Amino acid sequence: MKRPDITQPERLEQEVEFDRTLRPSSLGEFVGQQKIVENLKVFIAAARQRKESLDHVLLTGPPGLGKTTLAYIIANEMQTGLKMTSGPALEKPGDLAGILTSLESGEVLFIDEIHRVPAKIEEYLYSAIEDFRVDIVIDSGPGAKTIQLGLKPFTLVGATTRAGLLSAPLRSRFGISNRLDYYNNEQLYSILMRSAKLLVIEYEKDALVEIAKRSRGTPRIANRLLRRCRDFAQADAKLSRHKGVLTQEVADYSLKALEVDDLGLDEMDKRILQVIIEKFSGGPVGVNTLAVAVGEEPGTLEEVYEPYLIQEGFLARTPRGREITERAYKHFGLKSRKPNPAQPRLEL
Ligand code: ADP
Repeated sequence: MKRPDITQPERLEQEVEFDRTLRPSSLGEFVGQQKIVENLKVFIAAARQRKESLDHVLLTGPPGLGKTTLAYIIANEMQTGLKMTSGPALEKPGDLAGILTSLESGEVLFIDEIHRVPAKIEEYLYSAIEDFRVDIVIDSGPGAKTIQLGLKPFTLVGATTRAGLLSAPLRSRFGISNRLDYYNNEQLYSILMRSAKLLVIEYEKDALVEIAKRSRGTPRIANRLLRRCRDFAQADAKLSRHKGVLTQEVADYSLKALEVDDLGLDEMDKRILQVIIEKFSGGPVGVNTLAVAVGEEPGTLEEVYEPYLIQEGFLARTPRGREITERAYKHFGLKSRKPNPAQPRLEL
């Protein structure tokens, strides 16, 4: 199903440049994810003292929460370079060998969507990250030869939205593994303040508070909404009296015009909740059945969509399946059709 661009957490093509401009470059500038940041500080300081490369790092979590940003920060803090590729880009063993042999000593290799590295290439990764060597088979049939290439020590940073799809052998080879969580409104507000400063946007505090509330706990969405609100502030004739300043009124008007949900739910979130309400009487419904009904993979539902809906109290995972909560009914202006368990009805 096609989702409208504005609330989708994945990076849009035209955002690559903005993402780069707004990306914090040190752990000190990185907002939130406190535990992860504190631990990384220690591991990085220790590796630097020993003059070794940092242990391999796995970053998991939904899109737009800062996995790529952290990979760049790790390279910066280790004062080394970063080479980037992604699971789907590694089609042949040669693709991987090419990038591995180009790495300088101590450099970071960032593999985005690492769960999509093809199985036959994953095997080459094992020896590369464990022993810093790759065995490459040249030709096939009787003339086939294997040559062993030694690699310089490097740090693999793998990122995935789908931790459940990583094979156990690959997962176990990461010395450091972190799961990124959604950001709260205060953290999103800090991120927005920083972005507004970098983009030279004049704003009222309440405008950023409103954008933070509607950003689905996701910095990428917050930054995107900020840019779109700035467009309204600058170019919408009805708002010209605000002289380009992002006031609360401008933010409210823009977010309404962009049809952004009050609580930051995106189209897929709403679809999941509505399908459970309309087709399954509010649940419980098993994840596989639900996945078919909304046209998404069960694993993507579990790892990408449900965590936010559960955290925000719209959905509950029960042993019998997924159930809608009172909050979700209220959000859609509906009355719960379920009997309230706190007040059991008396059969007279
Ligand atoms: P992911 O790789 O998880 O999809 P990114 O690292 O590309 O997400 O982050 C998306 C954007 O959100 C970045 O451009 C960055 O500007 C912003 N961002 C993410 N996390 C943070 C953070 N903790 N502090 C400030 N900005 C952040």
